[in-house]
Amino acid sequence: MDGPLIAVLGAGQLGRMLALAGYPLGLRFRFLDPAPQSPAGQLAELIVAAYDDAAGLERLAAGATVATYEFENVPARATEFLARRLPVYPPPRALEVAQDRLAEKTLFRDLGIPVPPFAPVDSWQGLLDGVKRIGLPAVLKTRRFGYDGKGQWVLRSADDLAPAWAALGSAPLILEQFVPFDRELSILAARSTAGQIACYPLVENHHHEGILRLSIAPAPGLDEQTQHLAHEYARRVLERLDYAGVLAIEFFQYGAQLLANEMAPRVHNSGHWTIEGARTSQFENHLRAILGWPLGDTGAVGHCAMLNIIGDLPPVAAALSVPGARLHLYGKSPRPGRKLGHITLVEPSEEALRVRADLVRLLASQAAMASHGDFGFWIGDLAIDDCGLTVRQWQAGRLALQWTRAKSPGLISSLSHAVMRDLSLRSHSGRRSRLKAWSSIPASRSAASSRRRLKNCLLL
Ligand code: AMP
Repeated sequence: MDGPLIAVLGAGQLGRMLALAGYPLGLRFRFLDPAPQSPAGQLAELIVAAYDDAAGLERLAAGATVATYEFENVPARATEFLARRLPVYPPPRALEVAQDRLAEKTLFRDLGIPVPPFAPVDSWQGLLDGVKRIGLPAVLKTRRFGYDGKGQWVLRSADDLAPAWAALGSAPLILEQFVPFDRELSILAARSTAGQIACYPLVENHHHEGILRLSIAPAPGLDEQTQHLAHEYARRVLERLDYAGVLAIEFFQYGAQLLANEMAPRVHNSGHWTIEGARTSQFENHLRAILGWPLGDTGAVGHCAMLNIIGDLPPVAAALSVPGARLHLYGKSPRPGRKLGHITLVEPSEEALRVRADLVRLLASQAAMASHGDFGFWIGDLAIDDCGLTVRQWQAGRLALQWTRAKSPGLISSLSHAVMRDLSLRSHSGRRSRLKAWSSIPASRSAASSRRRLKNCLLL
């Protein structure tokens, strides 16, 4: 007998990972996406159509058990169209709220979830009034269609107001107080159609240029009270929206406070570590939740790091040569700023995780070097300690040799020897220490943009 058929709006990497989690449960998948070369389309039926194409949506819904979405900028009317034909989870109302930063912040505030002071801005005078009330620094953001840090402007002084208004003022905006946060955390929570709730441990997230680079889970140094607070906030949102599926809420941790920044009514990049690092992945729990099945255990099986692969692909063999590294590629072609895949590490201790994560950074730098032939730039701010030394020595030496051979034998021929010598010195001293970074100056002015791209890759 055929298993349940899941209709999914959007066929990106999140959809692809949903399908990969659902096949062992006997589920079938059908996706709709305007892009013909979509990651999920490589492994399931794909309807290529605009999100608001009625005929496409009819085909998506035909015979499906339940519909869901993996992209939060799908038009809410597409989910409403589907909801007249079959159950849609998370509920379209959750999508509407998440698509509007003002509605989102208002919901959080109404539920007693702390948020930075905020004000809607619809005019130049509104901006002046908002700044007077909230103070500077502040962040001006478009209310809709912002993602990965796009559509926002940090206002540090009165001089920033006019350029920010010129850039963003044609759209409805929200002004928020700038939070000098200690770190960024996210909670992934699932609620099933039967009302069962399960939360994953809080995740620590590192962004660069608005794009998530690295997630560490459970968040290092996490205390029980903070974890409990995040669960409680998630529970309030899930119940208010009569939610089913996985929900992510991003917080700023500021002292003992958690301030909610935004939510995503779907599986989330900061939850990719759960594929290997939790007893049940966020993808499987999303499917269980929308089908009304019992939720799986959300406990972590170790200390996890998830490093996004952005812009350039690492050589597969090199990535797999890091012991324990699990590589996920999404079948997308490289483009600056594009999420192409991720690498997950699961280790028994935070310390072992840190060591292994540094190795993966090295690999990323190698990938970046390989794709920027006109200039060499190496960052290997490499943590060394006794437990990681053997692996590091081998890996760093190997990378340095490859790089030297391929790029600039004359210029950097001593590099590999320097790496080996430095590592062995440290090894004799037996103390933990850090190995400095090397860099060479861009060979030409045209390399400036490569340098920017490269830095982007390196700052995982
Ligand atoms: P968002 O699109 O709201 O997730 O913002 C992207 C990134 O900008 C966040 O991950 C933060 O690093 C930063 N950011 C956003 N809002 C604020 C704020 N109110 N205060 C400080 N940093 C912020």
